[in-house]
Amino acid sequence: MSFIDTHSHIYLPEFDADRSEVILRAKAAGITHIILPNVDQSTLAQLLYLEETDPAYFHPAIGIHPTSVNNDYTKGLAWVKGELDRRPYCAIGEVGIDLYWDTTFREEQIIAFEQQVQWAIDYRLPIIIHQRNAFEEVIASVEKFNSPELRGIFHSFGGSMEEAQRIISLENFYLGINGVVTFKNAKLSTVLQDIPLDRLVLETDAPYLTPVPYRGKRNESSYIILVAQKLSEIYHITLEEIGKVTSRNALQLFGL
Ligand SMILES: [Zn+2]
Repeated sequence: MSFIDTHSHIYLPEFDADRSEVILRAKAAGITHIILPNVDQSTLAQLLYLEETDPAYFHPAIGIHPTSVNNDYTKGLAWVKGELDRRPYCAIGEVGIDLYWDTTFREEQIIAFEQQVQWAIDYRLPIIIHQRNAFEEVIASVEKFNSPELRGIFHSFGGSMEEAQRIISLENFYLGINGVVTFKNAKLSTVLQDIPLDRLVLETDAPYLTPVPYRGKRNESSYIILVAQKLSEIYHITLEEIGKVTSRNALQLFGL
């Protein structure tokens, strides 16, 4: 049985005390690759340090997270561009628009997101999109580019049927499914019944969004099996098949 975690922040300090054990558990659970989306300038050193320890296992993405977009965003963008020219990355991410806690930099977030979408096209890289309270904004930006070159993931999908259909109609986009699908009153199970499995990828968003029964504790890649179990109930197929199809999707998207 094998799975790919397309979204983990295992490089963050939450894992400093026991990172090597967490990695061993991930490998024992059949996780074959872990994609590492970046947050901002402050997180890249730790992220790349982890990659160096096992470059065939950890795959860095580069970008500025929307909650790190502020008055200084042009400097941040110049820094991302510099990184893209400096060394290879497997994706642009995580980027997007987040209007949940704070809408102060709404316009700046949109500008920063669209610049990073443009680079995904220019550098032929997939894009890992984060949105919170901003589905209309992100999808409008993506649809505006209307580029067949553009491909990626709507990370941590937990939206409506209409939203899922709109993503699916983009052709080269996947829904990133994590612990949210195991939450009690998640309507996501019903939505997914009408979405083909070949449009899904698995993720954890570790250390966040821990699946039931560990909800509230720190998340880690080995718990992806709980997400896969839930999908095997929804799609009425084996855990092996869930792993096979979602891994194939991820391998294809990231060109691993
Ligand atoms: Zn994330």
